[in-house]
Amino acid sequence: MSTKSKIEWTEQTWNPATGCTKISEGCRNCYAEKMAHRLKAMGLKGYENGFRLTLQPERLPEPLNRKKPTMYFVNSMSDIFHERIPEEYIRRVFDVIKACPQHTFQVLTKRADRMEQFFHSYDAPPNAWLGCQLTDGRILVVEYKGEHLLGSADTLEKQNLGALWEEKSNGQGLFLMATKKNDKGRDVSQQIEDKIKHI
Ligand code: SF4
Repeated sequence: MSTKSKIEWTEQTWNPATGCTKISEGCRNCYAEKMAHRLKAMGLKGYENGFRLTLQPERLPEPLNRKKPTMYFVNSMSDIFHERIPEEYIRRVFDVIKACPQHTFQVLTKRADRMEQFFHSYDAPPNAWLGCQLTDGRILVVEYKGEHLLGSADTLEKQNLGALWEEKSNGQGLFLMATKKNDKGRDVSQQIEDKIKHI
């Protein structure tokens, strides 16, 4: 049986919102800000407001129209958990993610508190990698799996994909597939601690 991932490794970005405001020291050299100003100067559609936070609802269906399994980076030009993005809009973004099981979506934020709050009332889709930036600049992505799903073909494929992403990130990306208790009896927060410490 082939173990080759069906997911296309080329990066696709999906920006249902653009623009942001700085929230931490890690924002100092924000790539999205420089890029947004450049795209505005080039007159690119969607960047009329430069780096000012702007919802782009016409972009919501983009992943629905792509059949080929693809790894998407969500909001490379913004932060989907920005405090001025309405919760209802964030739900629409995750509803699209849920409706596209053929794709995997990397959702990275510097607003971990809002992300955590959001998932109190919304079930995280299994095809979303949820990540936040650590204080040392590394990005931690955690995918939670119920114990009944460990060992399934889909889980193994995601595990391989995460390991590949981590390897290619040159130490900047950490991928953890967490479960309620791992084989060492560690709970989710302990698994996160172990991951951050041991790499
Ligand atoms: S959160 Fe991200 S997009 Fe927003 S200002 Fe900071 S680095 Fe830029």
